[in-house]
Amino acid sequence: MRPPAPAEPPRDCPLCPRLVAYRAENRAKHPDWWNGPAPSFGDPAARLLIVGLAPGRTGANRTGRPFTGDFAGVLLYETLIRAGFARGTYAARPDDGLELVDCMISNAVRCAPPGNRPLPAEEAACRPFLAARIASLKSLEVIVTLGDVSRRNVLRALGEKAGAVPGGHGAEGRAGGYALINSYHCSRLNTNTGRLTPAMFEAVFTRARARLKG
Ligand code: SF4
Repeated sequence: MRPPAPAEPPRDCPLCPRLVAYRAENRAKHPDWWNGPAPSFGDPAARLLIVGLAPGRTGANRTGRPFTGDFAGVLLYETLIRAGFARGTYAARPDDGLELVDCMISNAVRCAPPGNRPLPAEEAACRPFLAARIASLKSLEVIVTLGDVSRRNVLRALGEKAGAVPGGHGAEGRAGGYALINSYHCSRLNTNTGRLTPAMFEAVFTRARARLKG
């Protein structure tokens, strides 16, 4: 029997050959970048977990902190500060002193995939780490998934069918004993096209706050 996966993969996790090759390519070109699985960031006693898709090549793959250094992080962290789930100032670098409050951020796939598109086999390979991360959060009550890949993987990590909570912005249900709220991903594409507005995104976290007990 294989031992249970840890909540954080090893820095040189070998499980996805394509992503390992991409990691090696990025390490060769940019030895000063993080270039490894992006570790989860935030409060180990969090009641809220936010799950993104995967590190962006020049975002978390470069800086080593989820959603840090690329466009998506600006909207995410500014929204979390407004919603009281973060404090400090987001300055797009891991040493900016920003703290998450009652909140943790992780990714469904921990290594940067080419074109931000992981393969189904890579999602499956990384899912045990996601399941372990969720299980490690003993106070967890609410999960916000950013986009469909995240939603499907969180549901599968919880042993549910991928459609147990429907897709779409603002879809909500219960899975594995947690409230699950799905949001469109805060990507540059979604925000530039108006598919996701700052008000729509903030409403997700207002709702997450309302689902917390006490
Ligand atoms: S994506 Fe996950 S399973 Fe695949 S190599 Fe990276 S850490 Fe390992």
